Amino acid sequence: MKIVLATSNLDKVKEIKEFLKGYEIYALSEIVKPFEIIEDGSTFQQNALIKSRAVFAKLKEQGLDSEFISLSDDSGISVDALGGEPGIYSARYFDLDENDKVRGKNANDANNRAKLISKLKVLNLKSSPAHYTACIAISSKFGDFTAHGFMNGTAIDEERGNNGFGYDALFIPDGFNKTLGELDNETKLKISHRSKGLELANFVLKSLKKTLVKRI
Ligand code: IMP
Repeated sequence: MKIVLATSNLDKVKEIKEFLKGYEIYALSEIVKPFEIIEDGSTFQQNALIKSRAVFAKLKEQGLDSEFISLSDDSGISVDALGGEPGIYSARYFDLDENDKVRGKNANDANNRAKLISKLKVLNLKSSPAHYTACIAISSKFGDFTAHGFMNGTAIDEERGNNGFGYDALFIPDGFNKTLGELDNETKLKISHRSKGLELANFVLKSLKKTLVKRI
């Protein structure tokens, strides 16, 4: 069984490959020609399924559906003091207007973090409880599967550290006094929302591996 990652986010690819060592994993660009996926779901789960299904459909078109499965991750940070923002809009936060409409394509990790900091400052807050969510979706010839993982902690109003990506420099996980930007990758891999989701998804991967091998 071969796994194609239904994401072009290289930071996610790195973390997923690290966690799923032992599987034959391919980046999307290695197997499928570039195409646009519109993530218009209203939950992490819906968006994760949109991605894994879109990529699996391409695998099927290429006659690779007996050999390959697709695996996606939809994830983000939700900050309590901001009513759960940015949530599913984490990657596009900078481009989100006051009516939750995405305008433009200028968002990146740095300006998304700056927006989060400025929102906390407007509320005169130095920090707020927050959590990360990851939904892992798998699409295969035997159907679709999803699993969620969470990581609780605190979002702060200043950047600390250069490790990780996205909002990591602003997030202190529960039980630590450093941000994910200051903690090493090994620690993040043990506690992250993505790892928790992948740990559950691994039950499905193990079964699919046995089933696909038998049927080929
Ligand atoms: P997606 O690619 O639509 O799932 O968007 C994920 C976005 O959520 C990323 O671009 C980051 O901004 C944020 N995010 C998700 N997981 C992490 C993480 O582990 N660390 C930091 N930011 C993350």
